Amino acid sequence: MADIRHTNWVDGAHQPPTKELIHVINPATEASIATIDATPLETVSSIIESSLKNFSSGVWSQTDASTRFTVLSKAATLLRSRLPEFINLETQQTGRPIREMKAQLSRIPEWLEYFASLARTHEGRVTPFKGPVINTLTRLPLGVVVHITPWNHPLLIATKKIAAALAAGNTVIVKPSESAPLSVLKMGKLFQEAGLPDGTLQIVSGYGRETGKFLCESRLIAKIDLTGGLATYEAIAPNASKNLIPITAELGGKAPVCFFPSMPVEKGVKAALFASFIASGQTCVTGSRLLIHSDIYDEFVELLVSRTKTLRVGDPTDDKTQIGAVISRASVDRCSAFVERAIVDGGKLLCGGEPTTVDAKGFFFQPTLIETKADSDLACNEVFGPVIALIKCSSEEDIIQVANATSFALGASVWTDDFNQAHRVAEKIDAGLVWINGHHLNDPSSPWGGFKESGMGKENGIEAFESYTKVKSTIINYGQEPTWFDDEVENARYG
Ligand code: NAD
Repeated sequence: MADIRHTNWVDGAHQPPTKELIHVINPATEASIATIDATPLETVSSIIESSLKNFSSGVWSQTDASTRFTVLSKAATLLRSRLPEFINLETQQTGRPIREMKAQLSRIPEWLEYFASLARTHEGRVTPFKGPVINTLTRLPLGVVVHITPWNHPLLIATKKIAAALAAGNTVIVKPSESAPLSVLKMGKLFQEAGLPDGTLQIVSGYGRETGKFLCESRLIAKIDLTGGLATYEAIAPNASKNLIPITAELGGKAPVCFFPSMPVEKGVKAALFASFIASGQTCVTGSRLLIHSDIYDEFVELLVSRTKTLRVGDPTDDKTQIGAVISRASVDRCSAFVERAIVDGGKLLCGGEPTTVDAKGFFFQPTLIETKADSDLACNEVFGPVIALIKCSSEEDIIQVANATSFALGASVWTDDFNQAHRVAEKIDAGLVWINGHHLNDPSSPWGGFKESGMGKENGIEAFESYTKVKSTIINYGQEPTWFDDEVENARYG
C-alpha cells in the first residue's frame, strides 16, 4: 500500500493537509502506509466552533425522527456495499487477521440500522402528575459530543458511538486513535453520501495528549465518549467534571473465563482459544485469566497447550492466518516484560513467551500460556496482548472469588453444562457483561460497559441512545387558573 495522505474530514470536505503529520504504521510489515494530520490546536478550536454552529442551526439537531432513520439506514447500506475496502484498510492498520476483520466489519452496518430504528421508534413519556395536568418528557440532543476512540477495533467502536449520537440528533467530533485512524477518516464522505448535513460529523486526527486533550477540555462540548485506558480517563475527567459534562468511559479489563467439570474438555479448550487469542489478545474483554476447576485442570491444560502451539501466526492478509500482529514495538516489549515478571513471580511458562516476526518483519508475539497464582501481576493487570494466565481453582466458590479479585469488571464468561451452576455463578460475578457458554458475543441492542475500573456508562442499546439525550419536562395545566394573589378567590376562601 502506498504512503497516502489522509486528511481531516471537516464541514463536509477533506481539508488541506496541515504541516505536522503522523505516520501510520502497518504493524505486520513495519512500513508506513499513510500519513495523517497532527492537527494544530487553533484548527481544532475552529472545528469545535463550527460544530457548535452546526448544532445550533438545527440542520440535524432539529430534524425529525424519520429523516434520521433514513440517513442512518442509507449509511448502513453504503457501508455494506463498500466492506472490502474498509476490511483491507482495517487489516493493514491494525495487523489483525483478515478473517477476523471480515467477520467483524460485516456486522458494523447493523449498528447503524439499530440506531436508525431506535431514532424512529423511541418514544417520550407522560408522567402520572397530580391534577388536571399533562406532563410530557421529551428527549433532546445534548450538543457537540466528542468521541475518543482506540486502535483495536477502530471502525466498530467509532461506529457504535457515532450511530447512537447521530440518532439522538447530536453533532459529533471524532478523534480516532493516531495508531489506526484510516477507516474512521473514510466514514465522513460515506455519511455525506447518505444525506448527513455537512458539519454534523467532523473527523479530526492527532495525538491524544494534544488534539484529544484539547477537544476534551473545551467548554463548548456537551459530552465525551471515550474508549481507552484508565490513564486517559483520569487525564480527561477533572476538566469534564469542572465543565459539568458527562463521560461514557469504556476502559480496560481482565476477563475471567471460568471452566467447570461438567463441560467437555474439548469444548472448553476451543472456548479458551477463542476467548483468549482473537485480536492477539488485544480486546478489552480478552479472556486473559483462565480459571480452571482442579478436577479437569491437568487434562484441560495439556490439550490447551498442544492446540495453542498449532495456532498459525502469520501474514494478516492471508486468509489462513489465525494470529496477526500486535499494534507496536512497545506492545511487544510490554508482552515480554509481563512474561519476565510472571516467571520471577513463580509462574510456569507452558508455551510461547517470545517476540516473533513474519518474513523477518513485524510486531508479533507468540501465543503464550503461563500457569500462575491468582494474585500475581499477570493475573491482575491488563496485558493487552496474547499472554494468558492459567489459574487452578479448587471449587466453585474459589472460581467466583478469583473472578472478582481484580480492579476490573468488564467481561467474564462461565462455561458449564450444569444449568443451575451457570446461573449461580453468573449471578455472583461482578462484571458489566457475563456470558454463559459464550464469549465476545456482541449485538447493537445489548448494553456494553464495565464496572469498577473498567469504566462507566454503556455503549449499545437503549442505554447508549438515552445517554446522548437530556430530558425536558413540559407541564401543561388544562384545569385551574392561578389563584394566589387573587382577592376574589382569597375572600371567598377565608372570608
Ligand atoms: P488509549 O487510552 O491510549 O487511547 C485511546 C484514545 O485516547 C486514543 O484516541 C488516544 O489518542 C486518546 N488519548 C490518549 N490520551 C489522551 C488525553 N490525555 N486526552 C484525550 N485523549 C487522549 O488506549 P488504546 O491504547 O488506544 O486502547 C487500549 C485500551 O482501550 C485498553 O485499556 C483497552 O482495554 C481499552 N478498550 C476498552 C474497550 C471497552 O469497550 N471497554 C474496548 C476497546 C479497548
